[in-house]
Amino acid sequence: MQAYANRLLSRKKSIAFVPTMGFLHEGHLALMKEGRKRGDILAISIFVNPTQFAEGEDLDSYPRDMERDFDLVRKEKVDVVFTPERKCLYEDGFQTYVNLERFPKHLCGISRPIFFKGVATVVTKLFNIVKPNVAIFGQKDYQQLAVIKRMVRDLNFDIEIIGVPTVREHDGLAMSSRNSYLKPEERPAALSLFESLQKAERLCKEGVTDADRIINVAIEIINTHKRTEIDYISICDPDTLDDIKTIEGPVLMALAVKVGKTRLIDNMILTP
Ligand code: AMP
Repeated sequence: MQAYANRLLSRKKSIAFVPTMGFLHEGHLALMKEGRKRGDILAISIFVNPTQFAEGEDLDSYPRDMERDFDLVRKEKVDVVFTPERKCLYEDGFQTYVNLERFPKHLCGISRPIFFKGVATVVTKLFNIVKPNVAIFGQKDYQQLAVIKRMVRDLNFDIEIIGVPTVREHDGLAMSSRNSYLKPEERPAALSLFESLQKAERLCKEGVTDADRIINVAIEIINTHKRTEIDYISICDPDTLDDIKTIEGPVLMALAVKVGKTRLIDNMILTP
């Protein structure tokens, strides 16, 4: 992959890159469509990165279907699919990680303390291998996008980072490979994440500025469903991710909820 990227770059071809963990859905395809517009060559990676999963998380059961993924990427006119093996990215003796100081102490980083270290490390490695001019990420994983943008600035990667809006199912559920874990009877509970964001958006537009009041309404909506367990609901500064008490400008509302065994996340920018 590195040799191929070098050849492309020496021929003055620009490379757009979409990293994924596979089991592709319309959200991933939206990133690829954006990438197709932004590079001569569109490269994607499919790699379920072990270093971002903690003990007891779903590394082994994470959904995989390479055949189906390849059919989908062919339709998106992807030029390269990079599918490294685990031992190729993490050989024996591996010990170098990329870690951010502050963003991982917020939101998902509290219940998943090693997650962003794994993400920042693997994305750095993929950037060094694929050598993209531009890389595309989803706003569905808002904190991840913030981490990547910050890392690229802090470490002077010469790569433009693009965020693409969240793609949703017809009923509003944010698309995710992990949605395949949901049982049909868990669907209404899964939808309560987006419902609570929409309700929050309405309250904010109506002039409610007390963040706790909005969060309490969201908690109520989610708790009407059985088998939900709230990890966090936060209204915070979209740049620093620090909690906000009084809404005076655009804020990020982000939440993570376990529905049965499936951990779901979603977010929205609320504008008063
Ligand atoms: P994943 O395969 O889940 O690691 O995701 C790969 C990329 O796709 C990440 O940049 C995600 O933010 C993005 N992504 C995942 N789901 C969605 C979605 N529903 N809408 C937009 N982007 C998404």
